[in-house]
Amino acid sequence: KPVIVAIDGPSGTGKSSTSKAVAAQLGLSYLDTGAQYRAITWWMVANGIDIEDPTAIAAVAGKPEIVSGTEPGNPTITVDGTDVSGPIRTQEVTSKVSAVSAVPDVRARITELQRTLATSAEAGIVVEGRDIGTTVLPDADLKIFLTASPEARAARRSGELKGADVNATRDALVKRDAADSSRKTSPLAKADDAVEVDTTELTLQQVIECVVTLVEE
Ligand code: C5P
Repeated sequence: KPVIVAIDGPSGTGKSSTSKAVAAQLGLSYLDTGAQYRAITWWMVANGIDIEDPTAIAAVAGKPEIVSGTEPGNPTITVDGTDVSGPIRTQEVTSKVSAVSAVPDVRARITELQRTLATSAEAGIVVEGRDIGTTVLPDADLKIFLTASPEARAARRSGELKGADVNATRDALVKRDAADSSRKTSPLAKADDAVEVDTTELTLQQVIECVVTLVEE
């Protein structure tokens, strides 16, 4: 039976690195659901949709065709056939993604894509996001909720962004988490049956080992 692993938590907790490594190590597929929300946000910006207008966003939510590759060594993402893996990581997209992903029609659309990919993965899949354990895949075999102090998360993120200001990074992270946690439809939340792992004092390798052990139990 294919194994389904849900990994949720705020940004900067090591979700992506952990999820990719666990999937690669166990021969599972991998899905970055944040990349899907970033991709639809990129399309909204590219098409001049007013990000402050949920009705305008909802009206076109079904238009872009978003395709995710699920190979952990090469997680591709395209919108209408264009590779957007670079453009979805810009500051502009990052600052707008919470507003776009709060729109219920956007979530319904992306959630459907996620369920289709998860149920068609032959060996199983590691799916990372904010609402995977609570909403997208409530029957997942294992649910992990990663946390870390805001300082640790900002330090990791500014390390990735090479020299970005730690304080500005922390403020932006905290703001995005607050928006993601307070939205009405499927907010960032820990499922009741999720295992919480505080990564503040752990190395990436330790977090990976911890999750692999939990999958194998
Ligand atoms: O994980 P990442 O930082 O790339 O996610 C970008 C944004 O996408 C999050 O801040 C959140 O607004 C949205 N998201 C979501 N639900 C998910 C995954 C991401 O709303 N399952």
